[in-house]
Amino acid sequence: MNQPLTTPLPTKRASRWNSSYDTVGLNPLVDVYMTQPAYSRICVHSVSDMRNEVGGILVGEWCMDEDRDQFIVVEHALPARHTRQSSVSLTFTQESMLDIHDQIDANFKGQKIVGWYHTHPHMGVFLSHYDTWLHSNFFPEPWQVALVVEPVSATGGFFIRQKSGILDPTRYFGFSEMDGNYGRSMVYWTNLYQYEEKEGDVSK
Ligand SMILES: [Zn+2]
Repeated sequence: MNQPLTTPLPTKRASRWNSSYDTVGLNPLVDVYMTQPAYSRICVHSVSDMRNEVGGILVGEWCMDEDRDQFIVVEHALPARHTRQSSVSLTFTQESMLDIHDQIDANFKGQKIVGWYHTHPHMGVFLSHYDTWLHSNFFPEPWQVALVVEPVSATGGFFIRQKSGILDPTRYFGFSEMDGNYGRSMVYWTNLYQYEEKEGDVSK
């Protein structure tokens, strides 16, 4: 079933974190919403190895609101087992993908693979040539995203295809943190800024 779920944007339950590229006029196809449990799972995994890349799969929903704007909700992060990893690259093996599909069937039936995440210790937030290749081959749906986390500098960002289909490997986006903890943020990445709508702001 290759249709987005039609549902309102969960803006009332979320707070927005922008990267410096969110406001430069790019046109990402989807907005990313992420639950606090998914965010903390990714952070715990990311700092578990400060030398080698680690990664996994983002599971959740692909949605469309009443204005036909698309967004994804990252509800779970599944650290990939059976990956081949080194200090500079990460490969999802066949066993790893089978294991992921088994986990989704067993625990998150009906949810989708909305993207993947991996770390870049000491390297910064970008997609390498290899990452871009992996993304277009393993995550080809226009709405699937790639999250890169740099655990050493505590930074991170989402790479999202633009409406034109182009994926910029250097400019990343922030996300909306879904409030699972009574309004207290868990986001500590130093390259994202909490976006607050100013009263009387008509520029938007
Ligand atoms: Zn990479």
